[in-house]
Amino acid sequence: LLTALSRDVPHFLAEITAEMDEKVDRGRVADYIPELAAINDRQFGITVALRDGSIHSSGNIKSSFSIQSISKVFTLCLALGKLGDTIWSRVGREPSGSSFNSIVQLEFERGRPRNPLINAGAIGITDLVLAGHEPSEAIGEILRFIRAAAGDESIFVDETVARSESQAGFRNFALAHYMKSFGTLTNTVERVLGVYFHHCAIAMNCVQLAKAGRFLAFGGCNPETGFNIISQERARRIGALMLTCGQYDGSGDFAFRVGLPSKSGVGGGILALAPGKASIAVWSPGLDKQGNSLLGTIALEKLASSMSWSVFNG
Ligand code: GLU
Repeated sequence: LLTALSRDVPHFLAEITAEMDEKVDRGRVADYIPELAAINDRQFGITVALRDGSIHSSGNIKSSFSIQSISKVFTLCLALGKLGDTIWSRVGREPSGSSFNSIVQLEFERGRPRNPLINAGAIGITDLVLAGHEPSEAIGEILRFIRAAAGDESIFVDETVARSESQAGFRNFALAHYMKSFGTLTNTVERVLGVYFHHCAIAMNCVQLAKAGRFLAFGGCNPETGFNIISQERARRIGALMLTCGQYDGSGDFAFRVGLPSKSGVGGGILALAPGKASIAVWSPGLDKQGNSLLGTIALEKLASSMSWSVFNG
């Protein structure tokens, strides 16, 4: 039997997609990674994965997009799994209030990045995941983790995007060199960024992303298989970081409007969690000024409000 919830979701998704298709202002596609600059901004897709295992989608859910910074949530899970709470000596847990690739903050904080979801923090986390491995092994491990979480072996790294970013990734090279100068990176800059650019270049469609992030919405456990991927405490803490730090320096406004722990990427994807209820993936490549999908945010705002999913609902 369909729950009341799964009956409502398809209706809202269809309504939201129709509304998004009409939008004239679609934001601006990220252009600092040449390969992403060429993407058609007319696209919009959304998928909701519910506790009962049902998956509901609308719009363009067949095309894979570059998950970019959404991958930082998965590398954080992996680093916590390997090293536990010792990772917090390398990276903080405070929202940054600066742009995702800011360098000034790093100077003030002497190479210890504010949080694991901005670039500097994620580069530090990648350094930890890489420790003792070859870059290709670390990339393989990250990909295996995401494939296992999604139950989908077809998820892949888009090598063209990885190469494109590494050729134009001057700012990330600067951040990594700067961290290295403070002694907060163990591996060489080239090796760490090689892994970082590859995990950012993982490609998924909305269905794959909603499934990959599902364990985070259900206390670390995949509700379909009953398989525990991380502990409940970790899922709760990662959710807190996503809520406070997941949308760059737009995190406060995003929490105000949507009220769901989420992580965005400059490829235009957003993974959002309605804890205990749903994992949601939305994609539309045009970004707002903070680098979050413009239509993705509007769609999540509407869905969370229609379903009363904000974590702040009384
Ligand atoms: N790979 C991108 C970068 O480092 C990720 C940025 C993002 O999605 O926020 O610039």
